Amino acid sequence: MANETNLQKESIVLYPAPGIGHVISMVELGKLILNRYSNRFSITILLTTGCLDTPAMAPYIRHVSQSNPSISFRRFPPIRVDPLPPRSGAAKTFEFIRLNIPNVSNELQDLSKMTKVRAFIIDLFCTSALRIGKEMEIPTYYFFTSGAAVLGAFLYFPEVHERASQTTTFKDLFDVVLEYPGIMPPLNAYHMPEPMLDRDDPSYWDLVYFCSHLAKSSGIIVNTFDGLEPIPVKGLADGVCGKIPQVYYIGPLIAKEKEKLKTTMKEEDEDCLSWLDQQPSRSVVFLCFGSRGTFTKQQIREIANGVEKSGHRFLWVVKEPSNDDRKKQISEESTDFVWDNNGGLFPEGFLERTSERGMVVKSWAPQIEVLNKEAVGGFVTHCGWNSVLEAVVAGVPMVAWPLYAEQHMNRNVLVKDMRVAIDVEQRKEDGFVSADEVERRIRELMESEHGTEIREHVMKMKEFASAAWGKHGTSAIALEKFVHQSIG
Ligand code: UDP
Repeated sequence: MANETNLQKESIVLYPAPGIGHVISMVELGKLILNRYSNRFSITILLTTGCLDTPAMAPYIRHVSQSNPSISFRRFPPIRVDPLPPRSGAAKTFEFIRLNIPNVSNELQDLSKMTKVRAFIIDLFCTSALRIGKEMEIPTYYFFTSGAAVLGAFLYFPEVHERASQTTTFKDLFDVVLEYPGIMPPLNAYHMPEPMLDRDDPSYWDLVYFCSHLAKSSGIIVNTFDGLEPIPVKGLADGVCGKIPQVYYIGPLIAKEKEKLKTTMKEEDEDCLSWLDQQPSRSVVFLCFGSRGTFTKQQIREIANGVEKSGHRFLWVVKEPSNDDRKKQISEESTDFVWDNNGGLFPEGFLERTSERGMVVKSWAPQIEVLNKEAVGGFVTHCGWNSVLEAVVAGVPMVAWPLYAEQHMNRNVLVKDMRVAIDVEQRKEDGFVSADEVERRIRELMESEHGTEIREHVMKMKEFASAAWGKHGTSAIALEKFVHQSIG
């Protein structure tokens, strides 16, 4: 509940999509605004109940409320989505968000009676709430949690949809390449995020709707910075995606590790940090595939073989294997699992043979702290945008191995435009990567001239990142602009 002092201030209302990752990003945006304008605003965060809820959510919210008195949460009553007709997880989530519209409306009206709501900031997936903000004449903005290139590609998606024939589904069209002039290098159509691939799933139509509404908002706040993505920043400003509202690049916004640790870290995770302290400078390859990235047992064995053959030191976060080759995501709840030392997950004797130079961590490692350890010299990543920003800020070069969502788009710019990552060759049908390829790319990153170039580029980006939030930095100016021009 909002406290009285908060309600005396003007307020900004944030509405994240379900799932702790989305909530954390919005909380960080709220903290960023309060950091600079705490006397002026209070922040209210609207939270749904009943979809992608995790046990970590309640302690996380408690912790944020206690340590940031100007942030309050308003939790909606639970809602269930009817499981019929059959549809993807994404479609169900979007339907769930739509069903919450009356809750959004009630809360905004309630709050407006007590305080002046100066801005309503929504996640892309919460586009169904844009109408409510407009009806109540509250300036409504998007918070886009990926980069500028992906924003450009999303703005462009309604046109991709218009141009395609009515029967086209992109998922099996291996020979169609999409051009994004002024935004990013050409992309294989089947590398668009899953909901953009299949017209037969309702989530496709949701994405068309979301993307065509981006330009109808009062503005778009993006978690990136000018120096990292000069091409799409310029392209968007030049109008290559048509007329769009003001875009504010306020990144890199990174969740403070300490706060995340409170909800997720166990004592055993500390072991990997002290292990890293004992390794030589820049000698360790860190392999971690986000909060949901999981592999089949076969793929886990290939990674093990590749890592072992590379001869390099490694720290590898392994999640519960998936039985389905095409399924790359697991439920956010089941991040923990049991393995015996060599219960068929790893090649025979792998853990013993590599015990001197490698460490395998079950389910979760404190990634930001890991990336900032002197010992870490490379990062094999699934290209989730938070992971990308965390690696850039820590100055760690990457091997790009995208799995799901917009990660293939991220890979495209990381490898070709930013040149902070080395590409991995994946099987077209299911993204499988062989042991030889794992070995080759780790060696390339850690031993070759190309690897050195990538490291130099990432160090340059690290400097740009720190300059972006310096005194006259582009992100600092963008946030100021957002507050002054848009909120008044
Ligand atoms: N993360 C972590 N430890 C892990 C896996 C993930 O701390 O073992 C954090 C990581 O630092 C990042 C977030 O989880 O902040 C993952 O976000 P990202 O956007 O990279 O990928 P997603 O999980 O959303 O696919």
